[in-house]
Amino acid sequence: MAKNITYSILACFIFIINSITSVQIVEKRELECALSENVRENIANYAQVTNDIIDYFVKGPLKGKTWNSLSEFVDTFGNRLSGTKNLENSIDYMIEKTRENNIKNVYTEEVEVPYWLRGEEYALLMKPRVKNLPMLGLGYSVATPPDGIIANAIVVKSFDELKSLPDAEVANKIVVYDEAYVNYGVTVKYRSKGASEAAKKGAVGALIRSVTPFSMNTPHTGMQSYDANVTKIPVAAITHEDADLLWRLQERGKEIVIKMKMSATLSTKTSRNTIIDTEGTTKKDKVVIVSGHIDSWDVGDGSMDDGGGAFISWMAQIALNQMNLRPKRTLRTILWTAEELGLVGSREYGKRHRNETENLNFVMESDGGVFQPLGLIYSGSKTGECMIKEILKLFSSINATQIQTQGEPGPDIGMWTRDGIPGGGLLNEASKYFWYHHSEGDRLNVMDSDVLDLAAAFWTAFSYIVADIDSDIPRSP
Ligand SMILES: [Zn+2]
Repeated sequence: MAKNITYSILACFIFIINSITSVQIVEKRELECALSENVRENIANYAQVTNDIIDYFVKGPLKGKTWNSLSEFVDTFGNRLSGTKNLENSIDYMIEKTRENNIKNVYTEEVEVPYWLRGEEYALLMKPRVKNLPMLGLGYSVATPPDGIIANAIVVKSFDELKSLPDAEVANKIVVYDEAYVNYGVTVKYRSKGASEAAKKGAVGALIRSVTPFSMNTPHTGMQSYDANVTKIPVAAITHEDADLLWRLQERGKEIVIKMKMSATLSTKTSRNTIIDTEGTTKKDKVVIVSGHIDSWDVGDGSMDDGGGAFISWMAQIALNQMNLRPKRTLRTILWTAEELGLVGSREYGKRHRNETENLNFVMESDGGVFQPLGLIYSGSKTGECMIKEILKLFSSINATQIQTQGEPGPDIGMWTRDGIPGGGLLNEASKYFWYHHSEGDRLNVMDSDVLDLAAAFWTAFSYIVADIDSDIPRSP
């Protein structure tokens, strides 16, 4: 009994302590996320439609449709490099497919885009033994002279190491960067600036260790740019295996001679951003953008980068149209062109529509892979974040409730999110994204049909809710 009384008092004490703590927690949460009851209720009212959209993709009429559409697309066109006729044909195809799905409001806007054509290219180790070095020229690289360049190579692990060398040790050589992969954001500088840094020391060419965490002897391309007033030298990516081999050979004191041959050309062509609108019912001037880029590098078939992102953004229109769901605000799908050569399509759109940014309520892009959806990469105001968190609660049945507030949601929408316009990218289980990125490995086999259904369902339902809720996602505070 006494024991029980003690227990009761203890239990009561714990209860009081707990109550105080939970009040504090609630207060803290309220302070952090002071959403009005109206807003919470309004968002909660979308539970049913969220589940309906998920079911429509996962076990309804659209099951498998995203993968099927993507596979037909990439099997027909393969990769879609900026400036190519093939990219333009693939854009025409998407317009036709959109109309076939009874969506009439599809149009394009022209953009001048770069046409960087790699042409014939190779790298050959000539000394201390002859070996082909699988390579991919980097975007905007200049060509070598017609006969190629034959030069001694010097291998470095970092820019700091390169800078510490006397110019005479680098001059007239090919600089090979055997940099370690830390993460994409950190390591990509060797791809972006490797040529210019080598040229400043008098090098005649540069080769970088491909920017990827994983290699099966695969080179990975990507864009680079030359600094002003620095000699433009040819630059390409080689495999991890070969960059490491060249480093070991140098460590053993071997003389390394490499031949580089590249014949890239650069010109300009006309391409198009593709825009599909579901006009809003009561606030049609307000716009929610949902997007991905239709162009790709000229290797693999661009199923992952960014076929998946483009197709889930396209499927949002198909699904809402079929389900007869029309949000209050205009939901605009954009398939950007020429993202890979420097966000050319989105920059042109930004310029052309600069007077309409006031009406942009929320901007979305999926360009970081379409693997298992986890939630949203969010950028924007604190109050907006509270609303997004509340919306994400509706996706607990597919475990896509996470919010990540670090990093940019998407490259093409960066011009807006950096300006404080709230936006989101697909947060997904993308741990293998850079295994395939910009390589021959970016093929349809990377994509999974069931996962695409889940991601398309999430992307559709999320964009619908944001376009339909009573209050705008606020830009501040
Ligand atoms: Zn991309």
